[in-house]
Amino acid sequence: LRSNTISEIANALRKGDDFLLATHVHPDGDGIGAEIALALGLKQLKKKVTIINSDPIPSNYCFLPLEGLFKDRVPRHAFFSCAVALECSEPERLGKMKDAFSGIETIINIDHHPGNSWFGDYNYVRTEACAVGEQIYDILNALKVRIDPGMAACIYTSILTDTGSFSYSNTTWRTHEIVEELIKLGVSPTDIYQEVYESNSPGKIQLLGQILSTLAFSTDKRVAWVTLTRKMFKDTHTSYEDAEGMINYARSIKTVDIAISFTELTSGKVKVSFRSKSQEQDVNKIAGMFNGGGHTRASGCVVDDTLENTRKKVLEKVLQYMKKTDK
Ligand code: 5GP
Ligand code: MN
Repeated sequence: LRSNTISEIANALRKGDDFLLATHVHPDGDGIGAEIALALGLKQLKKKVTIINSDPIPSNYCFLPLEGLFKDRVPRHAFFSCAVALECSEPERLGKMKDAFSGIETIINIDHHPGNSWFGDYNYVRTEACAVGEQIYDILNALKVRIDPGMAACIYTSILTDTGSFSYSNTTWRTHEIVEELIKLGVSPTDIYQEVYESNSPGKIQLLGQILSTLAFSTDKRVAWVTLTRKMFKDTHTSYEDAEGMINYARSIKTVDIAISFTELTSGKVKVSFRSKSQEQDVNKIAGMFNGGGHTRASGCVVDDTLENTRKKVLEKVLQYMKKTDK
């Protein structure tokens, strides 16, 4: 198996006419920025485009130019000749959209996860891309589409959020080279930073307080974890999206190599997120033990069990894994 070349992807996109675009469940800045930028590019080429995600867009991304592009669900007699999955390592990541995709003739898979399952008819998988937004930037250029200020804001948001504001190891000279272009095209880093990171509700910061009060450590303080219960969300009038990024407070502690968050979803399901500080602690492997995946330093999985049992099972595997990698 090999990734298709960028010109093969551009040709496949030129051939299609009715597009369905989607990103993963609980969409993040990268998936949302990438799908809107691609949708606007395809519209310039006079294509019909609809974006339908499994979950709603968090309010801090609603400043992006999304008017008229999104539908809540697949219309009854809709026809799509081509479907594009953005930032999905496997069809399951599409959530409710997985079934809609399976009936569509041409599937294009655009992603940067190392564990991608190559489920598309066309696959553009580049693990060295800091964000799928970077891949879309390259695709739009290959299509000779004009990147307008709105599309530039989308790509900037993808890159800003997936690089942890240019701090993670995926940040390269190429990241900054693209950002240079985006700023020249009219992006205001200050405005986008404020929209994405300084538009919190009071409840979100109260949620942060509750989450931090659950912070716990392994005896050697190399593993830290936080726990998010449904009651916390209810008490602070917040939802799952509001917890994005809070795991980073646990990772920011000097002694910590691996940070974990346990989030109670519906009863009997727990979302586990992992973050690591170094190449040596590959949390993609740990998430893989629980049917999840992701990157070396950021991964996740969903476990069908209670909070307490999940925490016990996961911490056991993490401590075992650390013992093994120390040898
Ligand atoms: P987060 O912890 O922010 O939800 O996700 C971090 C990384 O792990 C993302 O790159 C995401 O793709 C991956 N990830 C999170 N949850 C899952 C999951 O349930 N399955 C898989 N395969 N990957 C996940
Ligand atoms: Mn990404």
